[in-house]
Amino acid sequence: MDSVIIIPALGDNFIYLYRYNQSDAFTADPSDGSLVLRAMKQHGLNLKMILLTHHHWDHVGGTEELKQKTGCKVIGADRRRIPGIDLVVADEQILPVGDRNVRVIATPGHTRTSVCYYMEPSAGNEKGILWTGDTLFVGGCGRLLECNAQSMWDSLQKLASLPDDTLVYCGHDYTLENYEFASGIEPGNQIVKERLDQVRMLQNQGKLSVPSSVLLERSTNCFLRAGTPELKAALGMPDARAVEVFAELRLRKDVF
Ligand SMILES: [Zn+2]
Repeated sequence: MDSVIIIPALGDNFIYLYRYNQSDAFTADPSDGSLVLRAMKQHGLNLKMILLTHHHWDHVGGTEELKQKTGCKVIGADRRRIPGIDLVVADEQILPVGDRNVRVIATPGHTRTSVCYYMEPSAGNEKGILWTGDTLFVGGCGRLLECNAQSMWDSLQKLASLPDDTLVYCGHDYTLENYEFASGIEPGNQIVKERLDQVRMLQNQGKLSVPSSVLLERSTNCFLRAGTPELKAALGMPDARAVEVFAELRLRKDVF
């Protein structure tokens, strides 16, 4: 029985349901309330909480409907911009979920108040689980809408330092485009090429590219690899600092 249920929505969004205590669940970034209600019914779940990574409509869209229909609690980090918020969380805050703990990780970059949620490993659940919203994507990262490159780089480093086997669930399916971009940046990188082939195959088979893992992202996501000599060389910036390489990559991706 998978505890994470993935609900594709709005074309390229992912909504998540996490099941615990047999029939309780929380949802992460419910852009579409009716899809969540349908999945809850199908799996026999009661909604207890909504975890929001940031305030954008394509992440919070179903929040008010779900709160109204289920009485669940709305949790996020932006008091002003998240509708119906009940609990405003801060960096390092721990949220108990069944017999596990979810740790809030502040990740400013895409927005000033973006957070990620990290479910720590526990006895019987050796792998941590990370919900990244629009901060880290499979093979990519979010746009810098409200912060500078340094903020986003620092946030991504926090995520990259989590254990290798941590499962990564992101907010959008931009995976194919991200690896097409990466292989254009580093045409000679065999690992990136193999990952692109793998992603194409998943897509052709109608399979999803989530979850990824922290290890897979650290080794194939060009944004996390901005500090490596290979990537600096690929961009013709051998002496640049990692954050400068990251900023250049983000600029190039914006117009890709
Ligand atoms: Zn967003």
